[in-house]
Amino acid sequence: MALQQGNISIHAQNIMPIIKRWLYSDKDIFIRELVSNGCDAITKQKMLAPGSEEDYKVTVTVDEKTGEIRFSDNGIGMTAEEVEKYINQVAFSGAEEFLKNYEGDEKGGIIGHFGLGFYSAFMVADQVTIETQSGSEGAAPVRWVSEDGMAFTMAEGSRTRRGTDIILHIAEEEKEFTQEYRVREVLYRYCGFMNTPVYLEVVKEEPPVTDVNQPEGEAAPAIEVKEPVRINPNAALWLKAPKDCTEEEYKQFYRDVFHTYEDPLFYVHLNVDYPFNLKGILYFPKLTNDFGTREGEIKLFSGQVFVADNIKEVIPEFLMLLKGVIDCPDLPLNVSRSFLQNDGYVKKLSAYITRKVADKLTGLFNTERDKYESYWEDIHPFVKYGCMRDNKFFEQVKDTLLYKTTTGAHVTLSEYLSKNEGKLGKKVIYTSDPTRQSASIAQYDAEGIDVVVMDALIDLNFVSFVEYSAGVEGLSFARVDADAATFTKEQTEDEKLKNQADEKKLADLFTHATGNDDLTVQVSALKDATLPGMLVQDEQGRRFSEMGKIYGQDFKLPEKYTLVLNAENAVVKSLLAAEDGEKRDMMAAQVYDLARMSTRPLEKDEVTAFLARSNKLLELLCR
Ligand code: ADP
Ligand code: MG
Repeated sequence: MALQQGNISIHAQNIMPIIKRWLYSDKDIFIRELVSNGCDAITKQKMLAPGSEEDYKVTVTVDEKTGEIRFSDNGIGMTAEEVEKYINQVAFSGAEEFLKNYEGDEKGGIIGHFGLGFYSAFMVADQVTIETQSGSEGAAPVRWVSEDGMAFTMAEGSRTRRGTDIILHIAEEEKEFTQEYRVREVLYRYCGFMNTPVYLEVVKEEPPVTDVNQPEGEAAPAIEVKEPVRINPNAALWLKAPKDCTEEEYKQFYRDVFHTYEDPLFYVHLNVDYPFNLKGILYFPKLTNDFGTREGEIKLFSGQVFVADNIKEVIPEFLMLLKGVIDCPDLPLNVSRSFLQNDGYVKKLSAYITRKVADKLTGLFNTERDKYESYWEDIHPFVKYGCMRDNKFFEQVKDTLLYKTTTGAHVTLSEYLSKNEGKLGKKVIYTSDPTRQSASIAQYDAEGIDVVVMDALIDLNFVSFVEYSAGVEGLSFARVDADAATFTKEQTEDEKLKNQADEKKLADLFTHATGNDDLTVQVSALKDATLPGMLVQDEQGRRFSEMGKIYGQDFKLPEKYTLVLNAENAVVKSLLAAEDGEKRDMMAAQVYDLARMSTRPLEKDEVTAFLARSNKLLELLCR
């Protein structure tokens, strides 16, 4: 074959600068592209020679000294005609489409960079050589060389074994790709589950020449030989039929993929061929309440080739709290993210994933309620978040939502209502802080009313969501300190009249002593005689101001509290009897602070004042 020179294709001039510019951040994908081309070539060869016992593999060799990285396979190889056809002519089968999708989508970026394939090598190389030998009869080996991906030379090569070597001479500014650690990291990320054995080989410095005059007795230094390392020793478990996978395999896979010693709680194995091809395993990790700061990790694969982590466009956002792998070989990856978002296929895929996750939850709830309850503390932020994010998901799992009571039981909404309805109607009593609010909780305990714990960050929103969405007429949630009626005793008409009179006096005293003009004072007889007072706060008003705090509103909403003072408590009685003065003001302020502390933590200045006052009061006691 005579030396041939040429230019690759008319599109190359347009696209090469774009490849270099746009893909700047993900240059390392050239490794994925070249390894997967090697795997593809091997798959083709296997189809040509079924049952052959050949030791098929792709080997990546890095040589820091020569500045080269080589991708070597024993696949099908290419004839000169094939190089002409597959490399020179249709260099960019997807080029036009790629350009179309890419233009005007500056920030989004395409998702998989697939379809660029071989030419991605020019992102990092200042010379690319193909040495290939086709397996077909009489084919001559071919050497193809190009420096810029635009002009090439092609001549008869010297390769004798069937297969292909792609040799990249790495450009000066991309030298990291001749370093073992860098290439290894990229290989594990992208090629860890490819269907053909992939090896990394490192060319070491030449061993020092043994000195013939070396004094006797001293051994020659050992020559360091680095065995090629297998990059993908683990099978892609997600491709195995679920019935053939063992519990231990699922767990081991989780530990391998996510580099953890922890076990997952449980998992969902996705396995469909129709109406789309989707395989994967989603794990429920041990989560914590502060789900906002914990991110899951879902790895997207396309035919065992890793594409990217956490692709929001494909996987419903709330599922991102899970960990796992998803393999969708038919997903269009050389399109922009914004395209994926609106793609019908992707929507169906994501709906399917959601449904399978919901099925798993309801299945567990129906058949293994004990287990499901034991998982609840770990999974509830995820499930609640999912409900608020995705109405279909909520509809599926709504009857499996649990509420933990202060006694540690787990009940559904309908179980709670049917147990407490006689006393409460369609009301659910909850605490956002079981320790701090224990005085209020005790009052409900005394009445035999269950209190549920809603202490996660998400619960503030979730409570309102359930009221609105549960489909229970008149359903409302109230915090343990939202309603004075629960804590007060019946009183005679005379007693009530006296309370009203006292109320006026005490209101003046407390607004003066606390400096809080918004405070409403009520005098009633509390069931718990030891308490001087309790602070109650209207449920809706409190939620509103808490919401404001979470979303960082800069203005502070006035907090409307009612201080319920206990007509039958000695401290209150002595406040009524005492003379004006510092001591009386201090006592009132102390009563107010103690009541506040059973609803929420004091703020910094409040704590300082409380401590100083407490010390003073102790001093007074000593006189
Ligand atoms: P794609 O893999 O999407 O077809 P590429 O640009 O990666 O696009 O490769 C273009 C074509 O070049 C391949 O389809 C294949 O025919 C040929 N090719 C590339 N690398 C190899 C290889 N290592 N062995 C045999 N053929 C190859
Ligand atoms: Mg390819």
